[in-house]
Amino acid sequence: MRVAVASGKGGTGKTLVSTNLFWAAQKAGQEVSIIDCDAEEPNVVEFVSGEEISTKLVKQKIPVIDTNLCTYCNKCREYCNYNAIICLPPVKFIQVIEELCHDCGACFVACEAKAISEKDKTIGKISEKGYNMHARVIEGCTEVGVFSSVPVIKESIKQAANAPCAIFDSPPGISCPFIATVESSDFVVLVTEPTHFGLNDLLLSVETLEYLGKPFGVIINRAGIGNSDVYNWLKNNKVPLLMEIPFDREIARVYSEGKLIAEELPLYATLFSQLMNTIEKTIKQQSGYIQ
Ligand code: SF4
Ligand code: SF4
Repeated sequence: MRVAVASGKGGTGKTLVSTNLFWAAQKAGQEVSIIDCDAEEPNVVEFVSGEEISTKLVKQKIPVIDTNLCTYCNKCREYCNYNAIICLPPVKFIQVIEELCHDCGACFVACEAKAISEKDKTIGKISEKGYNMHARVIEGCTEVGVFSSVPVIKESIKQAANAPCAIFDSPPGISCPFIATVESSDFVVLVTEPTHFGLNDLLLSVETLEYLGKPFGVIINRAGIGNSDVYNWLKNNKVPLLMEIPFDREIARVYSEGKLIAEELPLYATLFSQLMNTIEKTIKQQSGYIQ
């Protein structure tokens, strides 16, 4: 079971939901991993952590051009979709801009003069911690200055390949890091808030998930503020409202202390446990496992 917790924008309560869902799953005895896929700014370990089990560097291949062999034919620059190669044949100048290279390999294919070799570049780190005997916390963290966190996210998700249940804390927004996260999931929990901004960003996320063919449900955080537009939209479009989390001072206090509401406030232990069961049942129904 692969569950991504996502939102169209930052600050809606994604990590609040993913960490409490993780806690509820492990509390029920589930063998579970939480993967912090917000690899540009991971923060899951502020709430759930443990003893370090392993760390691994994520590397990518960067082309190295031998100017003694290069004929300045310009083909590698033409093949590179990411503008990561500058080639100026009249003055015999060629350079790879490492920060823009996506390790696609096209320039290696393009170069008939065999002037391109490769070197490794560290672009991030994955660390795995043991929350307890059957629950793991995996964090992907991209190096400062690296253009794309996608390779680190993909490696982080691979790290949890053997976990029977995995919860992905997705990066905010709907760009490549979000897609790299949700495309590996069976179900997506979208967290929003009942405001105009919340609805706008929810619609963008929904459009993307529908394009990807991913099933999803919605959690409204900070219920009680704003207006009823999100509720009306969910009702009119028959999108399941999985849970509401009220705009509540006690929740804010627990969260700001780096604690989990499911652990501190008994009502939320029940609600997150029910949420886990609902998601599990939905995934099984969709896969035809149960009717
Ligand atoms: S590996 Fe791909 S992205 Fe990198 S320089 Fe070559 S063509 Fe461009
Ligand atoms: S394709 Fe090879 S030979 Fe041509 S410019 Fe690039 S590195 Fe030089």
